[in-house]
Amino acid sequence: MLPYYYSVNEYLKDTYGCKMYRLSLDGGMTCPNRDGLIDTRGCIFCSRGGSGDFATKLSIATPIESEGKSSSNMTLRQQQIIANLDANISKAKERVSNKFKGDSYIAYFQSFTNTYASPSYLRSLFFPVINRDDIKILDIATRPDCLEEPILEVLDACNKIKPVWVELGLQTIHEKSAKYIRRGYPLKTFVDAVDKLNKLNIPIIVHVIIGLPGESNNDIYETIKFISKLPISGVKLQLLHVLKDTDLYQDYLEKKFHIYSMEEYFDVLGNILKLLPANMVIHRLTGDGPKSLLVEPTWTANKKYVLNSMNKYFKDNNIYQGCNFKK
Ligand code: SF4
Repeated sequence: MLPYYYSVNEYLKDTYGCKMYRLSLDGGMTCPNRDGLIDTRGCIFCSRGGSGDFATKLSIATPIESEGKSSSNMTLRQQQIIANLDANISKAKERVSNKFKGDSYIAYFQSFTNTYASPSYLRSLFFPVINRDDIKILDIATRPDCLEEPILEVLDACNKIKPVWVELGLQTIHEKSAKYIRRGYPLKTFVDAVDKLNKLNIPIIVHVIIGLPGESNNDIYETIKFISKLPISGVKLQLLHVLKDTDLYQDYLEKKFHIYSMEEYFDVLGNILKLLPANMVIHRLTGDGPKSLLVEPTWTANKKYVLNSMNKYFKDNNIYQGCNFKK
């Protein structure tokens, strides 16, 4: 029987026989929800780091002199990112060296929208990374409206070398909430992207936020039931975090929504686990916001305590993933 939930560590051990560590990398991209193509304000909860505050920031050997295009059709910044890729991966490995002693890594392009660039740049960025011996999986966080055909061709080519995961920030299926958070695309765009990625056998990880203003617990369960029927292989569940310098912080100051207590969150999580298919890989069950920016919920900052309490709660309440389907 599967444990209380099928964690990504268990999945990696079952599939690849070893532990892996995610190296959070900065591909130097922005986001159409920030550069003005869709909006300039970004999603209401998104930090200035583009939800990638842990990413190893680009370090470059020489300063960027100008942003013009070069003969290779890449900006100077993009050329410098490519030139410094290996150095930045080493830096990311160094950062986790006290926590992880293995030699297998997931290259995680986390900040902003990591397919929001030309296919040729993405090839130049992803190919050297995926061809490294120490990188076993390429993990790309992006938006479903940034997966045009030429981009999918790049991902498909990478996926033929080593596994590629694509993370999509859905957050909710409810259009009213999507509008409030300024997600900037309709649900249909997400469903279409899932269909296209699935046809290429690219595993999809979906981000869902728990506790969005205006959503009831039933609204959250509807989102979970919806994604459970799609060909999605993993989920990242994130309790709504209020971070400094976000528009959500302003609404928080005006007391426009409720902040979940730890007990309330565990209750919702337990119900979600029962709804998720037993083979859905759980990549995240707690928040992951940077402590320096975190305003609420403050109890999430003690991650070890939260994880221990959560596992105890699941055990005490006999909660395990997919139990509704097993009966
Ligand atoms: S799509 Fe992602 S990077 Fe862009 S504004 Fe929203 S959360 Fe931030």
